[in-house]
Amino acid sequence: MEHLPVFADLKGRACLVVGGGGVAERKVGQLLAAGAPVTVVSPELTRKLEELARDGVIRHRAQCFEDRLTDEFWLVIAATNDTALNGRIARAADAAKRLCNVVDDPALCSFIMPAIIDRAPMTIAISSGGRAPVLARWVKGIIESALPMRLGELASLAGRWRRRVREAIQPIDQRRRFWERLLDGPVAEHVYAGRDAAAHGALDRALAEWQSGRDRPAGEAYLVGAGPGSADLLTIRGRQLLSQAEVVLYDRLVGAGVLEFARRDAELICVGKTPGLPSITQEQINRLLVQLVASGKRVCRLKGGDPMVFGRGGEELEALAEAGLAFQIVPGISAVEGCAAYAGIPLTVRGMAHSVVLTTGRTAGRAAERPLAQFAGLAPGQTLALYMGVADYPAIAEQLIAQGADAATPVAVVERGTTPEQRVVSTELGSLGEAAEALEVRSPALLLVGETARFSERYGWFAPGRLVIYKRASQQDAPEETSLARAG
Ligand code: SAH
Repeated sequence: MEHLPVFADLKGRACLVVGGGGVAERKVGQLLAAGAPVTVVSPELTRKLEELARDGVIRHRAQCFEDRLTDEFWLVIAATNDTALNGRIARAADAAKRLCNVVDDPALCSFIMPAIIDRAPMTIAISSGGRAPVLARWVKGIIESALPMRLGELASLAGRWRRRVREAIQPIDQRRRFWERLLDGPVAEHVYAGRDAAAHGALDRALAEWQSGRDRPAGEAYLVGAGPGSADLLTIRGRQLLSQAEVVLYDRLVGAGVLEFARRDAELICVGKTPGLPSITQEQINRLLVQLVASGKRVCRLKGGDPMVFGRGGEELEALAEAGLAFQIVPGISAVEGCAAYAGIPLTVRGMAHSVVLTTGRTAGRAAERPLAQFAGLAPGQTLALYMGVADYPAIAEQLIAQGADAATPVAVVERGTTPEQRVVSTELGSLGEAAEALEVRSPALLLVGETARFSERYGWFAPGRLVIYKRASQQDAPEETSLARAG
């Protein structure tokens, strides 16, 4: 962060504006709006500033700037059209440890003035760090159009009730939830429609109901699919529930960007399991989830991809159902969909592939004894999507060929699909094991087998990703690697 946004209370705190032109006039207006006593130092003033001085709204010193002047003020704004003088003002302010803004010269500023959306007491400040004021104003326009005009009135009403609600509902989680419900429901609607008395009445009734215990919500689990990695592939509903939860239990495969949508004060607990390493067991996760929800928390159980596809979501649901606890399930983009889209591989193609099988290399059981899952071979017109099991690729290819699949069947391995580290390895079933070893394919990776897998060579579009076309060692000297930036 380049600047810390702070909201300064300038009421009764003297501020200095050096300069008496149009720019100075605008800055004076902003300072006055914040209740600051303003002194303007300038030999000359605009007509408007002259009027303000005459009416005693501002103080005017008709003189040139002197370094010692800054001592008397909390904030200094240099708004002259003389670059050298502006520099001198900034240096004098620095020496006196006063924050100084030099209009149109970010390098000289010790504070900058953001674009503002004023729904007092709700204030939203937007800054591009002085680099792109036009962009900041564009952002302002977007936010402005999304906010109700009477948002400030709603904030004021909440402020008036704050103490009473705090006394009535002591646990902070419960209190937050009370407010969330009201500020997104009928009370807000009354305020936005200008019915302030009705809003007060509704708040009063809601508080009484809450205190009687009739309306107090219990804990709930949200089983949310986080998508395959890229944060913008999270659904809107998933994002909403994630931003409400007090606790987030997340998997190792959940992209870091997704967690940014959790609220600041949420407790984030990683319950990720790393293949081959000792870690928290599924039973422990189930117990933790049940315990948290039973204690009244809203818990977001965030899983990579879709929670219902190889996510052991079923076991967690069973634990919640067994304990009689409430839950919601939000789908996510599963690895098969994410990888297919970002590798340019249609999963079904009319006349070529009419079924998709989601499967995995190993069945459940203890590692040493786990047999390879028995695929019923690769049926004609089928796309096989294989989750996990990177270490088993050679055995899987062997088994499919033994069951009659052609060794020349196209396969694609999508490693870290949808992320900037995505790598697609395009080869044939007969050389899959060899390719995975030579190219050091690592989890998480998804294997696609079938005629459609060859399309990554034609439709690969995701430019940060890479495409490696691997031919048998006997057919080539080195694998051919393509950057997908070709479209750009
Ligand atoms: N519930 C998840 C799957 C969890 S199992 C989903 O619906 O996608 C974990 C396996 O998913 C990994 O071993 C890998 O095979 C696959 N996977 C998850 N994210 C992936 C990604 N970004 N790229 C490739 N494969 C991925």
